[in-house]
Amino acid sequence: MKTIRDITDLKDKKVLMRVDFDVPIEDGKIQESFRIKKQKEALDYLVNHGAKVIMVAHLHENNASFSDLMSQLHMLLGYEFDFIKTPDLLRSSTPKLALLDNIRQNQGEEKNDSEFAKQLAKGFDLYINNDFAVCHRNHASVSAITEFLPSYAGFVIEEEIAALGKGIDSPKNGKVIIIGGAKALIKVPVIKRFIDKCDAILVGGVVANDILKEKGRDMGSSVVDANSKELLIGLDLNNPRLIIPSDFVIFDNKILDIGEKTIKKYCDIISQAKTIIWNGPMGMFEDERFAKGTNNIIQTAAESETFKIIGGGDTITAIDKINLFDKFQSFGQTFISTGGGAMLEFLAGNELPGLKALSYHGK
Ligand code: ADP
Ligand code: MG
Repeated sequence: MKTIRDITDLKDKKVLMRVDFDVPIEDGKIQESFRIKKQKEALDYLVNHGAKVIMVAHLHENNASFSDLMSQLHMLLGYEFDFIKTPDLLRSSTPKLALLDNIRQNQGEEKNDSEFAKQLAKGFDLYINNDFAVCHRNHASVSAITEFLPSYAGFVIEEEIAALGKGIDSPKNGKVIIIGGAKALIKVPVIKRFIDKCDAILVGGVVANDILKEKGRDMGSSVVDANSKELLIGLDLNNPRLIIPSDFVIFDNKILDIGEKTIKKYCDIISQAKTIIWNGPMGMFEDERFAKGTNNIIQTAAESETFKIIGGGDTITAIDKINLFDKFQSFGQTFISTGGGAMLEFLAGNELPGLKALSYHGK
């Protein structure tokens, strides 16, 4: 895979760059801007080397538009840039820097449509993918586009691969994986991959509920995946390294957080760890009454100087909520992944279509 640094001459080159601006938005206000700020390094590099850059990005709501977010994006990135409403307007304008509106407004995008990608590529000299978080999606501006332009990985992808690789390759002894949250389908494969390659996997959230149910516990009205049985096939639920909660915060007949004893046990293990990989809150942290487990894990991890990888939209939101984001970034060796699903798939050892496209077609 070639990276931005391999491009020998950027002066006046027309660059199509896939960027990651898919952040939580409420009432037109960007709630959390970590992913956007991560784009600045590549943008600065391209601008300083004299390239003309058109940015392509998505918002997960297909009908949503970047039009009302432009001034916030300008502030966060430190550039004024044009807004281009539709791909067919790309050819008639030649700004130095611009953003094309939500690419998922176009039908061809999520179909990975070759013809759509070909039209998108017209007039450009090269393509850079700087959106790691979308790389598990086989979409036109991620995959098919690489058939039509010399393609390179941006700094974000380069950094993600290096950091996640370091986590995967770190020694078994002292490696602790924390898995919580709700999307068991993409989380259980990570547990399966690491269960024999770490000291402990600490489980919380709905993923823990699934395991507890399969172990025969009466789950009351707790959230449990309908297909928890098949999700867990191939995972030895009695493996001593698979650590599940022993007490809970229960409300309305639902398990909504891990309990005091579990918090203590998990935090003790985390403070001894030499590598920490964490995705997913321990409970329904959005409600303060059920945030204690998650917040204690955050506190303990923030105080550990060891190498940490943290990812997941809600996990990052939970950290941001108690204002410890900067502490993680400034203390110890923490890598905060921009990827949720993409990070988990990478950790599980799955091939990511967006990365595969870059390594096959990158010239
Ligand atoms: P991330 O975005 O960090 O990968 P997920 O999206 O997988 O995390 O899961 C986060 C969601 O899981 C949160 O909305 C949280 O409320 C929910 N959740 C965690 N534990 C529970 C629980 N015990 N019952 C219901 N929902 C839970
Ligand atoms: Mg989430």
